[in-house]
Amino acid sequence: MKRSIIVLMSLCAAICLGACSNGSGSGKLVMATNAAFPPYESVEGDKVIGIDPEIAQLIADDLGLELVIEDMAFDSIIAAVQSGKADIAMAGMTVTEDRKENINFSDPYTTAAQVILVKNTSSVQSPDDLAGLTIGVQIGTTGDIYAEDIENANIERYSKYFEAINALNQDKIDAVIVDREPGKVFVGENPDLVMIDEEFTVEEYAIGVAKENTELLDNINASLKKLKDSGKIDEIIGKYITAE
Ligand code: GLN
Repeated sequence: MKRSIIVLMSLCAAICLGACSNGSGSGKLVMATNAAFPPYESVEGDKVIGIDPEIAQLIADDLGLELVIEDMAFDSIIAAVQSGKADIAMAGMTVTEDRKENINFSDPYTTAAQVILVKNTSSVQSPDDLAGLTIGVQIGTTGDIYAEDIENANIERYSKYFEAINALNQDKIDAVIVDREPGKVFVGENPDLVMIDEEFTVEEYAIGVAKENTELLDNINASLKKLKDSGKIDEIIGKYITAE
């Protein structure tokens, strides 16, 4: 190899290490999300709105970074963070032991739960009634993982929750397992659907950061603490979710 090429390559590597290694060296905080998960993130006009982008904006402001939102399939988000394409995963993402093998999570910023949606004509009343039924989930979600534990269930995996909701409306599937707050939004938009009161699980949402990016993780946790202590997180959540 010519010496000039080697020099050029080492230069690129050095620049990349300096700029990419802490994920925020570019002055940007790139957030990978799936903007089809209201009220946490959804598209309005040409903007991504919701609880997660609002919290991310406050963290970016606190860290002096420019927030950039990348909308992608939910099951691409962890890979985007691992590869450095994005600095953070923020997508109503539940902390799980499996995911922790691939990325680090910040301290949790809210709690959530999985619930069941069915047609208002359905006889399903609790998670126990799901055995042997066809269940729709969004691929790669915790709903997908829980569906796997249901006895003899036939799992239909969709790339977007909206598709699972459409399939339920059309009686192609018997139930959808989804996070509670998005579930409420979907029920509100689809008059033939109801939510089963009993919660499947309780979960925590947190921000995912690449394993090697410990400095960014520490900074995010410090920002989150300030935002929690000042009541800002509760304020943002309260804007989108009204207490029953
Ligand atoms: N909370 C669920 C999970 O982490 C679903 C998140 C989502 O679909 N955006 O798997």
